[in-house]
Amino acid sequence: MFDRLWRKPRSYGGSFSNRTREINLSRLQQEEFDIAVIGGGITGAAIARDAAMRGMRTALIEKGDFGSGTSSKSSKMIHGGLRYLKQLDIRLVRESLSERERLIRLAPHLVRPMAHLMPTHAGWMARLELRIGLGGYDLLAGESSLRRHRNLSREEVLDEEPLLRSDHLAGGVLYYDCLVDDSRLTLITAKSAHQCGAVISTYTKATSLSKEEVDTCRVGYRDVLGGRQGVLRARVVVAAAGPWTDELLRLHDHSEPMLRPTKGVHIVFDRGRLRVNHVIVLPTEDKRIIFVVPRDQVTYVGTTDTDYQGSLDEVLVEAEDVHYLLAALNWSFPTLLLAPADILSSWAGLRPLLREQGDPSGVSRDYGITFYDDGLAVIAGGKLTTHRNMARSLLDQVMKRYAHRLSGTFRECWTGEVPLVGGEMGEFPSYLRAQSLGLMGGWDVPRRTAEHLIKSYGRNHMDILALGRSDPSFLEPLAPACPAIKAEAIYAVEEEMALTLEDFMSRRTDLMHFEADRGLPVAKTAAKLMGRLLGWNPDERERQIESYRHSVGRMFHFRGSSSRPST
Ligand code: FAD
Repeated sequence: MFDRLWRKPRSYGGSFSNRTREINLSRLQQEEFDIAVIGGGITGAAIARDAAMRGMRTALIEKGDFGSGTSSKSSKMIHGGLRYLKQLDIRLVRESLSERERLIRLAPHLVRPMAHLMPTHAGWMARLELRIGLGGYDLLAGESSLRRHRNLSREEVLDEEPLLRSDHLAGGVLYYDCLVDDSRLTLITAKSAHQCGAVISTYTKATSLSKEEVDTCRVGYRDVLGGRQGVLRARVVVAAAGPWTDELLRLHDHSEPMLRPTKGVHIVFDRGRLRVNHVIVLPTEDKRIIFVVPRDQVTYVGTTDTDYQGSLDEVLVEAEDVHYLLAALNWSFPTLLLAPADILSSWAGLRPLLREQGDPSGVSRDYGITFYDDGLAVIAGGKLTTHRNMARSLLDQVMKRYAHRLSGTFRECWTGEVPLVGGEMGEFPSYLRAQSLGLMGGWDVPRRTAEHLIKSYGRNHMDILALGRSDPSFLEPLAPACPAIKAEAIYAVEEEMALTLEDFMSRRTDLMHFEADRGLPVAKTAAKLMGRLLGWNPDERERQIESYRHSVGRMFHFRGSSSRPST
C-alpha cells in the first residue's frame, strides 16, 4: 500500500556539499523566495521539506550545523509519551503515536521499535492505574505495527533485567516505542528538502529581520565561516529557532518572551558497566521518570528537567545534574554503585517549551504558532516526534493566512507519503538481515560495520561502499574496532554538507558520544580525509582537532563544577 503511494518528488539530485552551500549562498542573495526558514533543527528542516514539496520556492538558513541545537540533544525517542497520558494530554499522545507509525515507514533505518520495561514498586492502586494507562496507550496507537503491552510478574522482570532492585519490586510492564538517531533524522529531512529544490545554507546566521515594500520580508544574514553578509528576500519568513526564538524575535522588536527553556541532561556509560536489555523506565524521587537506554556498546540515561537562564550557546552538564541521575540509577541498580568516574560522555540540551507556569516537567510539550502581519510566522515548542505534523499545520495556516503575499498555487501536504533520503526499503529487519549478509560476503566487512552502515544510511549505504572503488583504503575502519569507515568522512563532506570535524564526529556519526575514548583516536584520520576535500591546511586541520578536543572536554564540565542549587 505504502509503496503504491510513494511517488518520487522532483529531484534536484547532485551533491549536498560545501560547493552546494557556496552556490546557495549566492542564490540566497539573488533570488526571491516564497518562504524563508530560519533554523535547521528538526522543525525548520521539516518545514523546508514540506514547503519545497508543495512547490514553494524555499530557502533555509541555519547558524550552525543541522541539528546542532536541541535536535541532536534529545532522548532519541519517537514516542507517544506515556507521561503526557498521565497529564491527560490525549490529543498530543494520539498525534505522537500516529506520527510514530508514519516515521517508521518514512525512515525505517533510523526509527526502530524497541521494548521498554517499566518496573512497578508501588501498591496495587498505582499498578492498576499503569495498566489502564498502557491499555489506553495501545488503544490510541490504533492499527500500530508495534506489539501491544504485556504485564510481567516480579520473577519475569528479574529474569529480563537481573540487575534491577528486587526488594520493593512488585512486577512490571513491557511496552513498545521507538528509538531514533535524532541528528541523522534532522540531516536527512534537510537533505530531502534540498532534493525537492530548497536552497539551504548552514553556518549562516540571521542577523536582522525587516519588512520591505508591502509583500516582501528581508532577512539579513552572515556567513559564519566566511564572514560574508547578505540579505535574502521572501514573501513569508518562518522562525523555527528552537530555544533561540526569543533572541530572534528581539531582532523583530518583540521583547515579550515566548519561551520557558528547560535543560535536559543525558549521561553515557559503557554497556558493560550498566548492562540492560530493554529501555528501562525508572521512577525518580521527585515523581518523574528517567530512561535507561541500551544502544550498541553503551547505555545512556536521561533526562533531567530544570528551568534554565544561562547561555543558549553553551549548555553544560553540571554536577547536580549528574547527582540527580546517579541517585535514581543507584536506587534501582543497587549493586552497581555507579559514580561520576564511570561516565563515558554526556550531553545537555534545551527544550524550547512555551511559556507556562508550574513545575518544569508539567509544562506542555505542545507547540505554538504566532503570525505577524508583516509576513513573519514563529513556531516553537513541540517534540521531535511530531515535527512532520507541526510543519504541515504551520504551512496549511501560512497558505491561508498569507495567501495574498504568496504567488502561484501550491499543492497540499504530502510529506507523509514519501520516504526520507535512504528510507525507501519497506520492512527494515528483513532488509537489514539480507543486506548485512551481502556486505559481509561481498565486501568482506565485519558484521558490526555492515549493520552500522545500513542503520545509518539506509538504502544509501552502497554509495559509501562504492567510494572504495576509487581507493580501497576508504573501506578500512577509522581505527581498529571502530565501526565507522574512512569513506564515511568523505561521504559526510560530499553528500551531507559536513563542514567541520565536529559535524562529522558528533552529528553525521556519533563517535563523540557513543565510541570509546569519545572518538579522539580517530579524529586525526577523519580531519585528514575531510581536510583534503575542504581545503584545510595543516594549521586549519590542527585547529579543527583542537576545537573537537575542547568540545569533548566540555562534556566533563561536571567534574569541575560546584554543586549549586538548580534554578
Ligand atoms: P532546534 O533543534 O534547537 O533548532 C533550532 C535551530 O535554529 C538551531 O539549530 C539553531 O542553531 C538555529 N538558529 C537559532 N537562531 C538562529 C539564527 N539567528 N539564524 C539561523 N539559525 C538560527 N522529543 C521527542 O519527540 N522525543 C524525545 O526523546 C525527546 N527528548 C528530549 C530530550 C531533551 C533533553 C530535550 C531538550 C528535548 C527532547 N525532545 C524530545 C524535544 C525535541 O528534541 C525538540 O522539541 C526538538 O528537537 C526541537 O527542534 P527545533 O528545530 O524546534 O529546535
